[in-house]
Amino acid sequence: MARYRESVCRLCRRESTKLHLKGERCYTDNCAVERRSYPPGEHGRRRKGKLIRYGLQLREKQKVKRIYGILENQFRLYFKKAERQKGITGENLLTMLERRLDNVVYRLNFASSRAQARQLVRHGHLQVDERKVSIPSFLVSEGGVISVAEKSRKLKIIQDALELAKNREVPGWLEIYPEEFKGKVIRMPTREDITFSVQEQLIVELYSK
Ligand code: SF4
Repeated sequence: MARYRESVCRLCRRESTKLHLKGERCYTDNCAVERRSYPPGEHGRRRKGKLIRYGLQLREKQKVKRIYGILENQFRLYFKKAERQKGITGENLLTMLERRLDNVVYRLNFASSRAQARQLVRHGHLQVDERKVSIPSFLVSEGGVISVAEKSRKLKIIQDALELAKNREVPGWLEIYPEEFKGKVIRMPTREDITFSVQEQLIVELYSK
């Protein structure tokens, strides 16, 4: 699958917010947004004008895509699915993205970024209900148990991620048992569990044109 290959910190600067794409560095003073809070490029400092509605909608969509590391076509498919579900489309979209296995692995602190989590999943280091799952977009369900495969528990990136995140909380819809390299989905995520700032209604408006 194609992936975005530019410096990921540029993406944060473009959205003028921390998207937490680089693991531990995102929590330090070396974060590019902390150091240069204006968009990248020659005209970055001058781009502060008021965004028209379309611009706001586009930026919000790009932000969510970049946070979850999803390309346009797949994002559109998520949106269509969200539209078909009962309830509020924008909320359905966010909670569905939150249930992706790569996101859950990141949220459980088995990886220090979603990109790292995606790689761990692809390489077969994760299990759901004791079965290997190597599809990052796999959607976890209530009661699902996510665990690091026994042979992978000594991997340095997993050990480091757990160590670095030991004081960080996991979201309320998940429970972690770090000694067992396991986590459980205790309930489905809700809109309140999405803690980054996002106006999902703008994305709905954009795709509803
Ligand atoms: Fe974004 Fe992290 Fe880079 Fe900061 S360090 S700009 S939060 S990816």
